[in-house]
Amino acid sequence: MRRILVTGARGQIGVELTLALRKRYGAARVVASDLAEAQPLDDLYERLDCMQADAVADLMRRRDIDVVYHLAALLSAVAEDRPQAAWSVNMSGLYNVLEAARRFGCQVFFPSSIAAFGPSTPRRGTPQITIQRPTTIYGVTKVAGELLCDYYATRFGVDARGLRLPGLVSSAAPPGGGTTDYAVEMFRAAALRKRYSCFLAAETRLDMMYMPDATRAIMELMEAKPERLRFRNAYNVTGMSVTPREIAAEICKHAPTFAVDYRIDPLRQAIADSWPQSLDANAAREDWGFAPRFDLAAMTRDMLVRLGAATD
Ligand code: NAD
Repeated sequence: MRRILVTGARGQIGVELTLALRKRYGAARVVASDLAEAQPLDDLYERLDCMQADAVADLMRRRDIDVVYHLAALLSAVAEDRPQAAWSVNMSGLYNVLEAARRFGCQVFFPSSIAAFGPSTPRRGTPQITIQRPTTIYGVTKVAGELLCDYYATRFGVDARGLRLPGLVSSAAPPGGGTTDYAVEMFRAAALRKRYSCFLAAETRLDMMYMPDATRAIMELMEAKPERLRFRNAYNVTGMSVTPREIAAEICKHAPTFAVDYRIDPLRQAIADSWPQSLDANAAREDWGFAPRFDLAAMTRDMLVRLGAATD
């Protein structure tokens, strides 16, 4: 039986994507992997450092992997703090996965990001094809990753596909050091009836998406007929374009005493100011039917219920 491998499976996306993949394709078909040691008797998880090329290839051969969801990476704020490590993890990890995919004939999912754009990109209605000159090391690895995946697709026929994901909001695993983490932190604070100090300015507008829409979009892209894909790496997708003030106001409809103050972190504010405010996701809609189900109101209701906050 050929299997699916998820790298970085203990992260914000990996926890929920692994569950969604197991539900869709059967638990036994999905091998989760990350840096943490395996628990005894857990046959569906393996420790894997994606920077170890031999270990990546060995696992993919042993487990007869035919699809890889390559999520292991360092995120934007962590990457800016440790740029050398970010280049190594994000680039050599992806290269090792693509090389093994080439050898074993695997399909590969690569998560790009709104960070693949930069200050010279049109910020509103950011087109599918546009200027990509990011000014963060994270963004540089995402553009390079998109190009490397496209190269493996055209040069070696590797079925590599990707999405430019916006900031993701989710309730299961905490976010891993990105610039849009404030949104998740805001919901968690509201659920605990705590005040929240936001590290981005109140009017900072960025694209966001709720995790159930993201995991569904990832699986739908991977199932799409290849001849329908005008692009591979990577499709713009988004669920909403929102500011911290708008999210706080929506939370206040359910938790009227929730309060936010703004203590700006210059590093993350500078990153956010270099990113688009609203992506044009028409190519994804036209080519493979991308259609998010959650807007800000629906996401807020669902997040607060999942986090156990009382809602009216
Ligand atoms: P995360 O930081 O929550 O999780 C990343 C996981 O990768 C962690 O569990 C970490 O232990 C693991 N990891 C780190 N180095 C590794 C290595 N050398 N080998 C194996 N595993 C390693 O990140 P996430 O939010 O789940 O993001 C997953 C992917 O999606 C990343 O490529 C990220 O750039 C991309 N993405 C995320 C978002 C978002 O908002 N979460 C948005 C756009 C793109």
